[in-house]
Amino acid sequence: MSERANVLIVGGGVVGTSLAWCLAERGVDGIAVVDLDLAGLYASSELNAGGARATWWQPVNIESCRLTLEFFAAHAEVLGFRPVGYLWLYDSAELFERAIEMRGLQNRAGLGVEALAVGEVAERFPVLDRRLEALVGATFSPRDGLVNPNAVRAWYRGEAERLGVEFHNRHYVAGVETRRVVGAAGSLREVAAVDVIELASGDPLDEAGVVRDALTTHSVAPTAHVGELRIECDTVVNCLGAWSPIFSAKIGVPDLTEPVRRQICLVDVHREDVAPGVDLSELGMIVDASGLYFHPEGPHVLAGYSTPDEAPGFDFDYDGEAFFESEIWPRLAQRASSFERCGHVRGWAGLYAVTPDCSGIAGAVAGFGNLYEAHSFTGRGVMQSYGVGRAMAAHIATGRFEEVDLAPLTRARFSDAARWVTEDLHI
Ligand SMILES: Cc1cc2nc3c(=O)[nH]c(=O)nc-3n(C[C@H](O)[C@H](O)[C@H](O)COP(=O)(O)OP(=O)(O)OC[C@H]3O[C@@H](n4cnc5c(N)ncnc54)[C@H](O)[C@@H]3O)c2cc1C
Repeated sequence: MSERANVLIVGGGVVGTSLAWCLAERGVDGIAVVDLDLAGLYASSELNAGGARATWWQPVNIESCRLTLEFFAAHAEVLGFRPVGYLWLYDSAELFERAIEMRGLQNRAGLGVEALAVGEVAERFPVLDRRLEALVGATFSPRDGLVNPNAVRAWYRGEAERLGVEFHNRHYVAGVETRRVVGAAGSLREVAAVDVIELASGDPLDEAGVVRDALTTHSVAPTAHVGELRIECDTVVNCLGAWSPIFSAKIGVPDLTEPVRRQICLVDVHREDVAPGVDLSELGMIVDASGLYFHPEGPHVLAGYSTPDEAPGFDFDYDGEAFFESEIWPRLAQRASSFERCGHVRGWAGLYAVTPDCSGIAGAVAGFGNLYEAHSFTGRGVMQSYGVGRAMAAHIATGRFEEVDLAPLTRARFSDAARWVTEDLHI
C-alpha cells in the first residue's frame, strides 16, 4: 500500500505533535504523523517530571522555553500549568556566582529571577529545615512552574486533528528511500519515501512487550506485523526524540545523540508530619544542591535524580525501591525533617535524548533538500515544545525562523566546539 504526504513527521511525541499543529495553523496541508505508539507508553513525553521553566543559561533555550511558558500560561487551565516557581539551591560558591551572573541574562528576558540568601530560603520555604548552613544561596524564578505534560501533548494533537493532520498510530518507521537531485544549490539528496510497518492493534499496557521490543531492539517481531505502507513525501521531519539516531543511521547521517535512562518516583510524604502552616501543595519545583529535584504531585511528592554514571542505552527498567532508598530518600531526608518518614509509592524510567552540549538539535539537515529535524531536547522537550514547534513550522514553510531563532541548534555546530550551545543548568 502507498500514500502521499506533503509533510511527514516521524515521531508523535510532544515535539512532533506541536510541530504538526503549528504547521497546520500556518495553513500547510497534507500533514501526516507516524508513531509506533501514540499512547506513548515509552515516549519521554509521557514519562517526564512536568517541570516548565525558562530559566536556562543559553539564550536559545531561554527564548524557546519563554515562548512556551507564555503559551502554557494563556491555556493554563486546560494544560494544568501553575506558575509556582523553581527554587534552585546551591552549595558551590562557583556555581552560585555563575547563577547570579546568568540571572542578568534571564531577567533581561523578563523572567524576574530573585537571588535568595540562605536565611531567606529558611524563611520562605520552612519545609526545608535541614543542613541549610551548607548552602551558599539560592535562586527563585516565580514565573516558572509545573505543567501536565500529557495534557499538553493531547491538546496539540486535538488541535492538529481538528485542522486535518492525520495521525498513523502503531506504525513503525522501518526504512527510508532517498534519491539524488541536482538543483541550483548543486547535487543534493532527498527523502523520496518512508516505509512503515503497521502493527496489530495492541493491548493498552503492552503486556506482550511488542512496543517495548520494537523501541529497544529497533525491529518489529514478524508476529506483530500486519501490513506495510510506503509514504511518499515532499518534506520529512525527524522528531523521534531518543530514537532520532536510528532514523539518521538509515540515511547515513551521523548522530551524536545518546539515549540515557532517567528515573523518577512518587513518594508518600506522610503529610500529617509536616509542620503546621506549611502547605506542600503550594510548592513548585525544588532543585536541591545534591541534584535531587522534587515537587508536589497530587497527594504525593514526585522526585527524580539523574544518576551521573548512567550508561547510554534503550533501558526502561525502573530500579524500584532500591532507587528510592539509595538516591531519593537520603537526599529528601537530609534537606527536610518532614520527609524523614517518607515512603516509596511507585516509579518509572524514561529516556533523555542527550547531546554532547546538552542542547537540542533543530533545523534543516545539511546535504538533503527536504529533510528537517527537531529532537534531542534532553530534559526540556515539554517546556520547549511550543517555541520549537512555532519556529520549525516557520522555517519549513518560509525558509526562515520566526519568533525564536533556532539557528544555534543546527547539527552543524558539532563540527566546531566554539559553536556548541553548552547548557549547564540541567538536571
Ligand atoms: C524522567 C524524565 C524527566 C523529564 N522531565 C522533564 C521536565 O520536567 N520538563 C520537560 O520539559 N522535559 C522533561 N523531560 C524531557 C522530555 O520529556 C523530552 O525532552 C520530551 O518528551 C521529548 O519529546 P519528543 O517528542 O522529542 O520525544 P518522545 O516523546 O520520546 O517521542 C518520540 C516518539 O517516537 C516514537 N518512535 C520511536 N521510534 C519509532 C519508530 N521507529 N517508528 C515510529 N515511531 C517511533 C515513540 O513511540 C515516541 O512516541 C524528562 C524526561 C524524562 C525521561
